[in-house]
Amino acid sequence: CGIVGYIGSKPVVPILLDGLAKLEYRGYDSAGIAVLTEQGIAVEKSVGKLAILAEKLAHNAPQGTLGIGHTRWATHGRPSDINSHPHTDCAEKFAVVHNGIIENFQKLKEWLAANGHTFRSETDTEVLPHLVEHFYQGDLLAAVREVVKHIEGSYALGIICQDEPDKIVAVRKDSPLVVGLGQGENFIASDIPAILSHTRDTYILNDGEMVLLTANEVKVFDQQGQEINKEVFRVHWDV
Ligand code: GLU
Repeated sequence: CGIVGYIGSKPVVPILLDGLAKLEYRGYDSAGIAVLTEQGIAVEKSVGKLAILAEKLAHNAPQGTLGIGHTRWATHGRPSDINSHPHTDCAEKFAVVHNGIIENFQKLKEWLAANGHTFRSETDTEVLPHLVEHFYQGDLLAAVREVVKHIEGSYALGIICQDEPDKIVAVRKDSPLVVGLGQGENFIASDIPAILSHTRDTYILNDGEMVLLTANEVKVFDQQGQEINKEVFRVHWDV
């Protein structure tokens, strides 16, 4: 399973597909991407090999320069198109990719359902976009900060928002996540090979660290929300 994300000025779909291919060694049963387009967030996802997703996208690739991608190793909900990531809220304003397990998802799901949220999948993950929607007050980073206070378990997350088309927010706990630092473009990925054809400068995130990526800047925050000075880890090896 794996996560990738890109923000910059290049067409995002090939970058996401290439990054996911480099994470195939981690194992997966489904794959998907979400792209921020001029018409909003476009999601394409499919059970099975990446080639199936690539085939779907070959005919009708969403146009954009910001997106997130996922390969899934199903833990909650069988492998299916609907259970594949990314997952969105009802209005499809937010899209989330997640590796790991949200242990308290059942309680959260009941609570969200009682508050009018409808669910499409059987995954633990789907509570996340609904929680972001619930806490959102115009600032994606602030909303995600609130979400992580309410979830238990393991996660590496990549999150995008239609109304903030210049941002990716990412956070990790007990699931790996790295940041790739480019020139006018930045990346997230579960592992270094996914970004190595683009950059060798990385941040290796620690548990609890949250990241705000724009095309030109990456800010890292600790669990308390304090911005931290992260050391650049330069990768000297090749894959
Ligand atoms: N628990 C999530 C699911 O089953 C994420 C699995 C993964 O890490 O790929 O959808």
